[in-house]
Formats: sequence, C-alpha cells, structure tokens
Amino acid sequence: MEELYALCARSYGAETAENIRTGFSSDRPVTFRANTLKTTVSEVLFALSGFELERVPWYEAAFVLRGEREAALQETALFREGKIYMQSLSSMLPPLYLEPKAGESILDMTAAPGGKTTQLLSLSGGKALVTACERDKIRFERLKFNLERQGASRVSAMRCDAAELDDFLSFDKILLDAPCTGTGTASPSNPIRFSQKYLEKCVRMQERLLKKALKLLKKGGMLVYSTCSVLKEENELLLARVLPEMKAGLVPIAPFEGIPTLPSREGTVAVMPTQLYEGFFVAKITK
Ligand code: SAM
Repeated sequence: MEELYALCARSYGAETAENIRTGFSSDRPVTFRANTLKTTVSEVLFALSGFELERVPWYEAAFVLRGEREAALQETALFREGKIYMQSLSSMLPPLYLEPKAGESILDMTAAPGGKTTQLLSLSGGKALVTACERDKIRFERLKFNLERQGASRVSAMRCDAAELDDFLSFDKILLDAPCTGTGTASPSNPIRFSQKYLEKCVRMQERLLKKALKLLKKGGMLVYSTCSVLKEENELLLARVLPEMKAGLVPIAPFEGIPTLPSREGTVAVMPTQLYEGFFVAKITK
C-alpha cells in the first residue's frame, strides 16, 4: 500500500493522499439497490421495516444498511428472490450517468457479476436492448446467474474478449466499467495488492477496450467510462491520450448531491474514498 500512497501523493499532493488513506481505514456499511425489474421501493421499505435503513439523496432505489451485517439481509426473501442487489453506492453511478432509455441498444462491455447490467435494464423500465460481455468463464457464469435471479434474462450475454468484438456492431450507448487496479475499494476487510506492473497491465487493457468502445459507439451516441480506481493513470490521463486520437470528447457531468470528490479533470467525477463511498471515476464521452 505504501507504493500506492506515494503515487497518490505525487498525483494529488500529500494532504489529499492522506485523506485517501483515511478513506481506506474503516469498513463501509452494506449498501444495496431495489431491483425495480422485480419490485418497488415501497415494497422494499415495507418488507425491510425491521432493518435500520438510510436513504440516499441522489438515487431513490439506493439504501444504506445500518447496524446489521450483510448476512442478515442475505437471509431475507427479498434477497433470495432477486428483488434487492448488494452494490456499493459509487458503483451505482455509471448507469445513472448513462441514462438508459427504452428501445436503446446498450452494450455493457465488461459486465460480470452484472450489478450495472441489471441496473441499466432497470433504469430503462426493462425496455432497453442490453448486450453484456464478459471474458472470464467463472465470472460469466456468475453474470448469467445474476441476470436470471434479477429478472433480466432478456439481456443478451456473450462470453468474449470485448476488445475483439466485431467492428460491424454498433450501439446507441456503451458502458465500459473497465477492469482496473481496484485501488478505490480498499478497506480493512478488503486489502488490495498494488504494483506498478499491475497498474501498467490494467492501463494497456483499458486502452484496448476504450478504443474498441469508441469504434462501436454510434455517431452522437453516449459512452460512460468508469473504474473503481483512484489513480489518474487509469482515469483522466488515459482519456487525455485516447479521446483526441479517436476524435471523441467529454460530455461534462457533475457530482450528485452529497458525493465526496477528488480533484479531477473538469467535467469528470472522481469519488473520494470515505467511510461510505468507494473511490471511483466516471466520465461521459461522445463522438
Ligand atoms: N460492471 C461489473 C458490475 O458492475 O458488476 C463489474 C466489472 S469488473 C470492474 C471488470 C470485468 O471485466 C471483470 O469481470 C473482468 O473479468 C472483465 N474483463 C476484463 N477484461 C475483459 C475483456 N477484455 N473483455 C470482457 N471482459 C473483460
């Protein structure tokens, strides 16, 4: 972790690096989303009336569980029936910025275990045409399980390397929730291993995937690029290199109410890791 903090200090300065370190120092509460493909927010509130829940100002379907651990929630019928889905608050952001609508063709390029795939479908009222790709065999099985359980079996799931997708495909919207170092997610119960070599490997893969995403995006379409990393190398520095080359540009977005942020390129949102939020990066792009 010391190597990671040193990199953060170089990118953000010592004070922000220290705040990042503090953000990793306690476990975050369990957070989840009502899966509106199968239920309503009112039904969730009623069924979980014995739990201490907190609402989230920027997303009606999101909840923070206080005073209980994940296991208690996993024993409920709501969970077993796929009516709620455990998901970090930060990771609920990319689908919200993509604003999926009924009838749109949407590609979720790196989809497993599928939290954002089902959220995309859910936000479109179950009416977007979602294609989800995943390369890893075991994670692909997990994706299919989650799609089934969340009532999203109309999503077309493909096990493939998304960077090799055929260029004749095209989509109105694309979510690239890229594989990354995961440096935003660190906590006492989730220590992460970081190395410069791993960072470079992630950046190479992110670049391949982002270039492919921009090829598959229809002219005037929208792409959301996200990572659960606090490192500029995987986020704004990658975009600064790839977007001009691919003749694409940022569509400015702003943080939703109450979201703690890290300094980042104007028009992008970098979430500061805190006791509630994982470190995350989101950018919206068009061409
Ligand atoms: N979007 C997911 C969610 O919200 O549940 C999380 C995605 S995770 C950050 C990145 C995923 O990309 C991993 O499951 C990884 O196996 C997959 N992946 C990595 N490289 C890939 C590639 N070239 N093509 C497709 N999937 C890939």
